[in-house]
Amino acid sequence: MVIKNSKSLLNKNSNDSDILGIFETVNTELFQSLESSQNSSKPFLVSSGGTTSRAAADKHWILDLRKNYRKISFDPDEKHVEIEAGVTMGELSSFLKKFNRSFPIGLSGKTGMGYILTGGISPLSRTRGLAIDQIMEIQGFWGNGKEFHLCRPTTEKESSFEWKALCGAGIFLGIITKLTLKTQPLRPLLSWTANLTCSQLSECIDQAESWPTSLSFQWIYGENIFAHAIGEVKNTEEESILINLLERLPFSRNRIINKFNDMNSLPNLSLGNNISNNSNHSEVLGLLGPALQSRNRQVLKTLKNLINKRPNKSCYIASQQLGGATHLNNLETSFIHRNAIWKPWINGSWEPHDQSKRKRSLEWMKECWSDLEFSSPGVHLAQIHPHLEWHDKELSSAFKDWLPKLKEMKVIYDPRNILPPLEYITN
Ligand SMILES: Cc1cc2nc3c(=O)[nH]c(=O)nc-3n(C[C@H](O)[C@H](O)[C@H](O)COP(=O)(O)OP(=O)(O)OC[C@H]3O[C@@H](n4cnc5c(N)ncnc54)[C@H](O)[C@@H]3O)c2cc1C
Repeated sequence: MVIKNSKSLLNKNSNDSDILGIFETVNTELFQSLESSQNSSKPFLVSSGGTTSRAAADKHWILDLRKNYRKISFDPDEKHVEIEAGVTMGELSSFLKKFNRSFPIGLSGKTGMGYILTGGISPLSRTRGLAIDQIMEIQGFWGNGKEFHLCRPTTEKESSFEWKALCGAGIFLGIITKLTLKTQPLRPLLSWTANLTCSQLSECIDQAESWPTSLSFQWIYGENIFAHAIGEVKNTEEESILINLLERLPFSRNRIINKFNDMNSLPNLSLGNNISNNSNHSEVLGLLGPALQSRNRQVLKTLKNLINKRPNKSCYIASQQLGGATHLNNLETSFIHRNAIWKPWINGSWEPHDQSKRKRSLEWMKECWSDLEFSSPGVHLAQIHPHLEWHDKELSSAFKDWLPKLKEMKVIYDPRNILPPLEYITN
């Protein structure tokens, strides 16, 4: 165990927190220390990429996997990649490029293994599936300290509750140290970016809902609206079909259509300089819902209203498209909202250490959630909020009927609740 406070975590809330100390290795000493510590059971957080507000927090021990879990290797026969928990998605993508292979990473290469463990929605997921659908083996330690190594069941019959739980809800039950993942051929990517008006966004969403699965659409709405469509090019015939579809999208300015070699080279989905203060603290809540179809105009009107009310310019709402292969999975996982087409996420932001501004932003997030729930009733627990009173609601919207079984497993595999709780616990 190391007592220090220099964490250099990407998430600002986490980075500014006053932690008790840092563990960097998962071993019996870690579990013994947690057991003997007076503050043992609750105040412990795991950090892989360090991009969320629960990578570290005041008065918590943290397990930072970034230094000692860096191994990555490729099996050329199986075309599988094995990664340890400290490897970021950008590093995974760059490593695979050397073998002409790829993995459906998300919109940022900065995220860590938490991206995969929480489901992993990639702009390529409509053809490749979610990141959890690529998992072949999972290794780590349950919260009770016992080691595990599970292989992907080959038939539905072989499937187990443990496998289902680890694929999408593993962060509540164990510390995952290593994953073996399927990879796919590396193909060129088409990228369309532009600024839009609200009615153009509505039209783009309409068009995207009837696209082939090799194209996906994502947008961010704050001070302005910026959108990004990404397509995977399998051959020249398909390329011209995709370009045709991209050229039909409306835009107000700055339209760029480009071709890139891999996900790491794509432009960021961001509002550029308009998100002025990047030292701000923030929380992010991910929702999930079906195609908007006839509700498109109503949803866009709601969005416009929410954006007009946002407490400051750093707050925004964004969304990414699922569908196609994310609907199909031969094995059950804890990502139960398989028929979702859109994942809108709400970003509430405030100046550090200003409790009243924090409260206002969190209130705004709750209002957004409540107003958007009619079109996005599910939750994607890519970011967890065990410290906020909406934790019970986010858990039940994320796992529905599967939550009681997860709670039963929690009693066995994490009896002292050292990992994030499956219920809201007031301090
Ligand atoms: C810029 C950006 C872009 C994003 N784009 C996408 C996207 O396109 N698609 C998408 O689906 N998500 C996206 N996300 C969300 C992101 O994937 C999740 O928030 C994910 O949980 C981050 O993982 P991390 O390892 O980086 O974060 P961390 O803060 O290190 O981890 C998050 C939580 O996961 C748990 N955890 C992490 N690692 C382990 C482990 N090894 N064992 C057990 N528990 C662990 C911990 O409870 C931790 O609190 C994005 C996030 C950011 C910041």
